[in-house]
Amino acid sequence: RPVVFSGMQPSGDSLHLGNYLGALVNWVALQDDHDPIYCVVDLHAITVPQEPEAMREATRRTAAQYLAAGVDPERSTLFVQSQVPAHAELAWVLGTLTGFGEASRMTQFKDKSSRFGAESTTVGLFTYPVLMAADILLYGTHLVPVGDDQRQHLELTRDLAGRFNSRYGDTFVVPEAMIPKESARIYDLQEPTAKMSKSAASPNGLINLMDDPKVIAKRIRSAVTDTEREVRYDPQAKPGIANLLDIYATVTGRTIPELEAEYDGKGYGDLKKDLAEVVVDRVAPIRERTLELMEDPAELDRLLAIGADKASERAERTLATAYDRVGFLRRR
Ligand code: ATP
Ligand code: MG
Repeated sequence: RPVVFSGMQPSGDSLHLGNYLGALVNWVALQDDHDPIYCVVDLHAITVPQEPEAMREATRRTAAQYLAAGVDPERSTLFVQSQVPAHAELAWVLGTLTGFGEASRMTQFKDKSSRFGAESTTVGLFTYPVLMAADILLYGTHLVPVGDDQRQHLELTRDLAGRFNSRYGDTFVVPEAMIPKESARIYDLQEPTAKMSKSAASPNGLINLMDDPKVIAKRIRSAVTDTEREVRYDPQAKPGIANLLDIYATVTGRTIPELEAEYDGKGYGDLKKDLAEVVVDRVAPIRERTLELMEDPAELDRLLAIGADKASERAERTLATAYDRVGFLRRR
């Protein structure tokens, strides 16, 4: 079975519709005929400031949202990144193979460092993609189901795997990205040229899986559009409407031309009202299940410990091989 690895950060209050449509839906589908490893990447989350208690809570909540969306701990390995030390250890080695210029070209670093300002821009944020490469390479991963925003990081992972292999001998599988069709990059409702992001400055542009249905309807109603009236798919000229149509199409499985035809002659208000309905129908059951799971944190912690044991065993093996190849003296 092909190995699949992916993760989400326990940053922010909840996963949002971009995380769900861009990645999580795919994760669930892959469980039938793959060997999936799904991680809550808390080491990544601290690359920008986090409140310790809030992050602990968000770590459980993120795992609960995976489960609520359909991740099955019997068929997937579900764990928390910081509970498997091999991730940080391999990242150090890969960092020594990463060019400074190469890392400087990562657009996520440029985006986030400009958003958080020079004060909060850390070396950890800079080396974020190196840690991500370690996550993926530790498990002999074949496929990485991520949103479109992670394309560049995946390229770096492939380069690092190839570089290590040619310098030290074949060690890592060179993974493939598995990115859903164009429409699954979801944009911020208030700023439809920026991707929807947990770490957005304002929650008003987000649709969170944990939001109350009323809040979701309100956010969609106040989504930024344009001064025309025509419901037409044009991401350049009408990014707000294009984003709403993309969300609509992805949630319902309908095509954009179908939707354009349906809203021909109707206004933005009709589109927004119907969209709110289909989104709420999709998201509400996940929210309810997550809240149920959060009532028993001890059970969540127990599930995560089982996952960490399974993951550690595999990760330790790869790390030991990599250390050997690099020339580290084995401890007797
Ligand atoms: P942060 O702002 O803290 O980076 P995030 O919203 O980008 O949070 P991540 O935890 O970094 O979320 O990413 C988890 C997964 O969700 C990744 O696979 C990423 O590609 C995907 N993803 C994130 N944002 C979007 C989006 N707007 N549209 C589609 N996929 C997305
Ligand atoms: Mg992100």
